[in-house]
Amino acid sequence: MTEKLAIGVDLGGTNVRVALGNSNGRILKKIYEKTDKSKGPKGISKQIIRMINSLVSEETSIKKIEGIGIGSAGPLDIKKGGLMKPTNFPFDFVPLVKPLEEEYGLPTYLLNDCVAAAMGEKHFGLGRNHDNLVYITISTGIGGGVYVDGHLLIGKDGNAHEIGHFTIDFEGRLICGCGRRGHWEAYCSGNGIPNYSRLIIEEEGLMKIEGSNLIEEVRRNGYAGITAKTIYNYAKAGDKIAELIVERIGVLNAIGFACVVDAYDPTLITVGGSIALNNPNLVVNPIKQHIGEHARNRIPEIKLTPLRGDAVLYGALASVFHQKEMG
Ligand SMILES: [Zn+2]
Repeated sequence: MTEKLAIGVDLGGTNVRVALGNSNGRILKKIYEKTDKSKGPKGISKQIIRMINSLVSEETSIKKIEGIGIGSAGPLDIKKGGLMKPTNFPFDFVPLVKPLEEEYGLPTYLLNDCVAAAMGEKHFGLGRNHDNLVYITISTGIGGGVYVDGHLLIGKDGNAHEIGHFTIDFEGRLICGCGRRGHWEAYCSGNGIPNYSRLIIEEEGLMKIEGSNLIEEVRRNGYAGITAKTIYNYAKAGDKIAELIVERIGVLNAIGFACVVDAYDPTLITVGGSIALNNPNLVVNPIKQHIGEHARNRIPEIKLTPLRGDAVLYGALASVFHQKEMG
């Protein structure tokens, strides 16, 4: 039997990554470029087409390829096959499926990037033996992809898993990127952590504390230089205030994970995204420690994804071979 091949695309606001892979979950070649937002909404698909052309050499002619999968940050409009008023792009609509289908005559599938990552986990990662599986990314934002009873959840617009927008603070002290208050992502994502750190420092009067390099830095330079990375790095170096902030983030993450466990009842949650992958113990341990205080359902295994930063690409490839799951 000839090898089955597919193209996978991971479209983000910063980078676009394209891979050629097979149905066994091997990535044969991959390339990435900065996402080109300068040529209007149609420029994105043109860039992807150019990248696919550079990957598909003559010996792996396009004829051997079964289809194209695209994992993209949302919000998606699955029916129209593109991105609707995307957060990452200054356009009302970015068409993706139609331009690629017209160019190659191949079936082309569009998924939310976290849904794609869940598919990658299910078929090429730790999820092979799990019918109830959630993938959670903790990165610039927080998102998820969910299997229940072997079915991949999609939703009316393809957004059935916007777990980053679960309300975890009913007092709504911080505003989320989506404009609503109190959402998980507003506190514990790469975008949220600097604001949450400032909130903790100010609400608890921590500027008075001596002997903290983190507080010293805020005294010197204000909050401008405080990022998720600086908070975790100070915590790794034993800074007590940074450790306190990381613990608070962990408690809120545990509440978010507990909501996921009670909503979807998975046997496995895998965790990806740069913040989790770069700080595995500081992110995952507090979740494991506190989740039992909040979840009613039986606690599942919680593990880092072995697919690392390629989870979306693996999932985009898997979507071509397993598109029945997408209903
Ligand atoms: Zn939100």
